Amino acid sequence: MAITIDDIIQKAKTYNTSSNSDLIREAYTFAEKQHEGQMRDSGESYISHPLTVAHILASLQIDDDTIIAGLLHDLVEDTAVTLEQVEEMFGAQVRRLVHGVTKLSKLEFRNRHEAQAENLRRMFMAMSSDIRIILIKLADRLHNMRTIHSHRSLLRQKEIAEETLYIYAPLAHRLGIFKIKSELEDLSIEVLEPEAVAQIREELEEEKEDRDRLINRHIDQIKTALEEAGIKPEVNGRIKSYYSIYNKMQRQRKELSEIFDLNAIRIIVDTVRECYESLGIIHTMWKPIPGRFKDYIAMPKQNMYQSIHTTLIDSNGTPFEVQIRTWDMHRIAEYGIAAHWRYKEGKSADADFDKKVEWLRQMLEWQQDVGDAREFMETVKGDLFNDNIYVFSPQGDVYELPRGSIPLDFAYRVHTQVGHQCVGAKLNHRLVPLDTPLNNGDIVEILTAKGRGPSRDWLNICRTQQAKNRIRQWFRKEKREENIALGTEMLERELRKLNLDPSSILKENLPQDIARRYGCNNLEDVFAGIGDGAIRAETIATKYRDEYQKEQAPTIEIKAEEIHSNQSTSILVEGLDDPMVRLAACCKPMPGEKIIGYVTRGRGISVHHQDCPNAKRYFQTEPERIINVSWGNVNVGSYQVELEVVCEDRERLLMDILAIMAETKTPVNGAHANVDRRNKYCSIFIKIEVKSMEQLDYLMQRLQRIKDVQEVRRLANRNRKGEE
Ligand code: MN
Repeated sequence: MAITIDDIIQKAKTYNTSSNSDLIREAYTFAEKQHEGQMRDSGESYISHPLTVAHILASLQIDDDTIIAGLLHDLVEDTAVTLEQVEEMFGAQVRRLVHGVTKLSKLEFRNRHEAQAENLRRMFMAMSSDIRIILIKLADRLHNMRTIHSHRSLLRQKEIAEETLYIYAPLAHRLGIFKIKSELEDLSIEVLEPEAVAQIREELEEEKEDRDRLINRHIDQIKTALEEAGIKPEVNGRIKSYYSIYNKMQRQRKELSEIFDLNAIRIIVDTVRECYESLGIIHTMWKPIPGRFKDYIAMPKQNMYQSIHTTLIDSNGTPFEVQIRTWDMHRIAEYGIAAHWRYKEGKSADADFDKKVEWLRQMLEWQQDVGDAREFMETVKGDLFNDNIYVFSPQGDVYELPRGSIPLDFAYRVHTQVGHQCVGAKLNHRLVPLDTPLNNGDIVEILTAKGRGPSRDWLNICRTQQAKNRIRQWFRKEKREENIALGTEMLERELRKLNLDPSSILKENLPQDIARRYGCNNLEDVFAGIGDGAIRAETIATKYRDEYQKEQAPTIEIKAEEIHSNQSTSILVEGLDDPMVRLAACCKPMPGEKIIGYVTRGRGISVHHQDCPNAKRYFQTEPERIINVSWGNVNVGSYQVELEVVCEDRERLLMDILAIMAETKTPVNGAHANVDRRNKYCSIFIKIEVKSMEQLDYLMQRLQRIKDVQEVRRLANRNRKGEE
């Protein structure tokens, strides 16, 4: 019963005559050796897992590289094997696939919601590089779900099942891989609703004989009728999956006995023409239920699915569903996207792949639009889990939209500009309000006017996230001009408060590293940020002042022979013998900081920080009294500094800060907080003792890394009046 490598090799040969059996076997031998001694939770040897994954992939009729990557998929994560080794032995393609799968499994998150969101996002990113990575991931999950009961924790089982049901199964569905989708759903629902499933199974078993007899009679009747018309059909019957039965019972609040269309009959023929001929014939045999007829041949689903669906009522009044398709359509219905690799060994995807899987292209686009993982999750969820309607453009192009979409959703689906410029809509050639819900088969015409923009109300009436995202973007961009103007004004005001002249200062671009620290690329972004409240004007103004004054102050050059050391203060003063030196109280410079000396009247030399406003004033008023000084011996005890930590309002911030001080054994002499609730800002002022500039730098870096901290700066009393 256990799968062997020979099963896989044989399977691959059935659909790919050029399959490299030796290389597949080599991958297996390699994986087996590396996983040796490792066990699954089920007690089986580990290699049974990659073997099954590869077997599932082979049953999707996929290329050798993917099968090999399936065999190797857990190696890099669980053994000492490196990606380089994988590449050396099996080539760059296999390496990429294994790497992609490994990246997907390395997710650790604080909570499940976040994990799912990020998981999904990464899967879409992986898809954009190579969809086969997702196929391996799906096969991996399928085997893990088949063996889920060996998981010791029931809670964990349910978590995995839930994730499978809400992310992996819809993904398989969207990729059109019905086989995997349906098995994932049934396995998940069994874990999540064991009693309900057991009951369904029991009840189905009870009436199995009756139902089988009935369905077989229908099959025979259909076969005979079609063969008489010269068609050679394959006709088979199947019962709906546990999951879809369960879902139907929930949705319609019905007992199993009240659900009639448990049976479905599938007719597979050679040509599209035969599909419609067959449809015509069976509609003369049984009465179709109005509204249940769906022609996915004329309007394929976004996952490429094509078939005709119709529901008929038999002579007992029992409804049953019939699906009609060609063999080509059948292959795509079973294998979905995987079907693309069937005859294309060595190539990653065919040229018009994106066009065929329009849905995937859109998801990838949105993924770029939406920055935040959770927002992305919401974006995708809405469109992943809802059933869709199909509408037409006046030119006859088909668009798939979630049920409940309105003409605006359609407009944004056609093109962002069509959405923005939309002023009206016609449904089936009649003018309608923009919030009219669309129905299957509607012809939608959008009226546009140049220069028009969206309205904020649209955010409330649009159904698709795509439309909402685009509208939001428009406003963000549109308001940007306002924000820039407002931000500029605010910053100018702050600069004036600091006695700086905005007109000369703002001409210069803000130093790059400061802009970058606020996630901005340039000055304009900074202004916009100030304008919309993301950045404090005061903070930036201070930065400007610091930078500006650095440039104004002369570089201190000290000639060695002219320097005399003053041991008591560890300050070296140029050209003076043993002067009286004090550190200025206004800015309390620290060893390592740039300093200058000011020759006081009768009180020796006071040493200021180079950026100190007082020092700056002396430069302008008494330049003759400025003297070059530098640090001598830096072992000068400790200094008190006051830091301001600016952050988004957060309760535990002070605790976090104090924890860092405790950890680094830094004495704290005082702390207080200013909370600006309206703007959601909080400043913590903390007085600490440090011994060196290096220590201070280190502490400031640590503080900067606390979550939500926006800025850490040193207050050097420079804004207060000095004692000179
Ligand atoms: Mn695995």
